[in-house]
Amino acid sequence: MTDDARPAPLRPAILDPLFAPARGLPGIGPKMAPMIERLLGTPEQPARIVDLLFHLPQGGVVRKLLGSIAEAPPGEPVTLGVTVTGYRPPQPGAGRRPYRVLVEDATGDITLVFFGMPGPRVEKMLPLGAHRYITGRIDLYDGHRQMVHPSRIIDEAALAALPAVEPVYGATEGLTSRAISKLAHAALERLPVLPEWQDPAWLARENWPAFADALRAEHRPENAPPPVPEGAAAAPRPPARQRLAYDELLASQLALALLRARNRRAPGRANAGDGHLVDRIEAALPFGLTGAQKRAVAEIRADLASDRRMLRLLQGDVGSGKTAVALLAMASAIEVGRQAALMAPTEILARQHFERLGPMAGTLRLRLLTGRDRAAERRATLAALAAGEVDIVVGTHALFQDSVVFADLGVAVVDEQHRFGVHQRLALGAKGQAVDILVMTATPIPRTLALTCFGDMDVSVLDEKPAGRQPIVTRLVSTDRLDEVVAALGRALAAGDRVYWICPLVAESEFVDLAAAEERFEDLRHSFGDAVGLIHGKMPGPDKDAAMERFAAGETRILVSTTVVEVGVDVPEATIMVIEHAERFGLAQLHQLRGRVGRGSRASTCLLLYRGPLGQVSRARLEMMRETEDGFRIAEEDLRLRGEGEVLGTRQSGMAAFRLANLESDAALLQVARDDAQLMVQRDPGLKSPRGQALRVLLYLFERDAAIRLLGAG
Ligand code: ADP
Ligand code: MG
Repeated sequence: MTDDARPAPLRPAILDPLFAPARGLPGIGPKMAPMIERLLGTPEQPARIVDLLFHLPQGGVVRKLLGSIAEAPPGEPVTLGVTVTGYRPPQPGAGRRPYRVLVEDATGDITLVFFGMPGPRVEKMLPLGAHRYITGRIDLYDGHRQMVHPSRIIDEAALAALPAVEPVYGATEGLTSRAISKLAHAALERLPVLPEWQDPAWLARENWPAFADALRAEHRPENAPPPVPEGAAAAPRPPARQRLAYDELLASQLALALLRARNRRAPGRANAGDGHLVDRIEAALPFGLTGAQKRAVAEIRADLASDRRMLRLLQGDVGSGKTAVALLAMASAIEVGRQAALMAPTEILARQHFERLGPMAGTLRLRLLTGRDRAAERRATLAALAAGEVDIVVGTHALFQDSVVFADLGVAVVDEQHRFGVHQRLALGAKGQAVDILVMTATPIPRTLALTCFGDMDVSVLDEKPAGRQPIVTRLVSTDRLDEVVAALGRALAAGDRVYWICPLVAESEFVDLAAAEERFEDLRHSFGDAVGLIHGKMPGPDKDAAMERFAAGETRILVSTTVVEVGVDVPEATIMVIEHAERFGLAQLHQLRGRVGRGSRASTCLLLYRGPLGQVSRARLEMMRETEDGFRIAEEDLRLRGEGEVLGTRQSGMAAFRLANLESDAALLQVARDDAQLMVQRDPGLKSPRGQALRVLLYLFERDAAIRLLGAG
């Protein structure tokens, strides 16, 4: 048994109240519970008190500081005093379209947009002619200002009763910011007294409050300084917010530092033989490796052959051919009689890897293991794995389960790194003796960032595309010209093209995104009938596979999709990518989405639909996309234009690893946390000092505790 196969010590009891289910809080009835789960829970993990406490308000609204429609900055929470002037109910039978309400103040008018809410309920909240105070964010949609799901709608009397400063939370359908605020207050009551894990001198220097006080200051901003008035330069983040961000950053950096320290110690095993199997598989590939692939294979083989444990990141743009490199790495371990595992973040991707590896893998014995296998099938796979009758197992998170036992796992490949954390890497590594790990990512992470985020890894880069790829023509098109786009699609379909249509991020809530995708789906069906398919993240797995398979088989030829759908999917016949509301995406993600086309021998097109008017930076970003297909250049430029949050910290990039910190505004803190963590691990590698003990609590609090098992029994 290796040291990391030992079960992690139990979470300290002092934290139990924070990890209790949120639905146990007073005030959460059967109606509210599912909404809390939708906002803060996941299918595997019901919402807990800590999730509620870490759901920090996006800002405070000063009751008396009312904005005006004409001057409210788009995208930021604002409170407006408006009069209701009209209703725009959805057309009957037109799918799940929103209910719209027109309102105005002395300076202009906007539309309020409600998805999935019955008309009478909307009209009751907003009677015609009534004066109401609404809080939310204004967005531009088709050149018109709108507010999707205001977080609060109240009348004059309710406004007068509000506290001077009220926190504004990211809300979800049916659950108001106000309700979340009440729950947060209830959650604060459960906050235990925790030991201080930060260095007291550093705290004093930064003038930061204790952890519990910081959370209280965030959730009860009544006495906090008021937010910066509109138009003023942004204020620095308040000390409470900085403190919490730093706590989270320190937890992540400490986990990485512990992992790094352990990797230096950990002996590996040579997972490479005389090369006969690797050479045979390489020779049988239907293509010759690119220079970059050859270099990466050589670097990996050197790691595998050494008795140092491999932890390598294989970074390569979409379509750069990571799969073949992974296969050769796995073959190397199989050559010396061991097994290999390839883990993908989603069912669809696992299946696709499995199908694609098959023809390349020659005589290797492959198996697929996912959460959806039938019991008998699964038992057979598990038995074969344990008996060493499987060479490569491809799967999802299902590979982590305790029941999965390998005869002798040599190499683990993890695809799309940003979906998995240190936790999972450790869990997979624990499935064998000193397992060599190769992590693959298509996210073109600039080197500076790679250092802070993946500081514990060596890096190989595939910076060369296989020969014969057609360039992708990228065009920027205003949504005012949507009709022309649809007409052009008609011509393309007639010529046999296949089209992805990615729907915009409308709001914070996936539910609202989904409604927008369904609306677009219905629209396109009017023009193209059954040729249009729909896929989204809320679909059950088998339905997703079916929708994807119909598109791959050409039964549907336009696939409407929300961005939550995995972008790694490969349909070489797809030649057109339409991305709606492109200005809202991170460049890295636009680049990834675009990489879904241009995979076959036919010329491909990417249409970036934007809703004008575009600001200077937005325009520069989209033009960048038009100018180059070089993912690294795009990532560097993105970093320059927008700051690193855009590259890594956002929901779009899939790397929502931080809940309280923001890589853009807290970049300087990340550096400090990295140094702090390194120093701590040098001085107190077992985390045994009083501060070390408190830091253990911190690791559990931010669920980076997998690192604790590296500390041994202490
Ligand atoms: P990604 O890096 O995005 O995972 P894949 O490994 O899926 O890329 O490869 C994309 C496509 O390119 C696949 O169809 C694969 O067979 C093909 N391919 C990979 N390497 C080469 C190469 N050296 N020459 C030609 N085609 C290649
Ligand atoms: Mg891939």
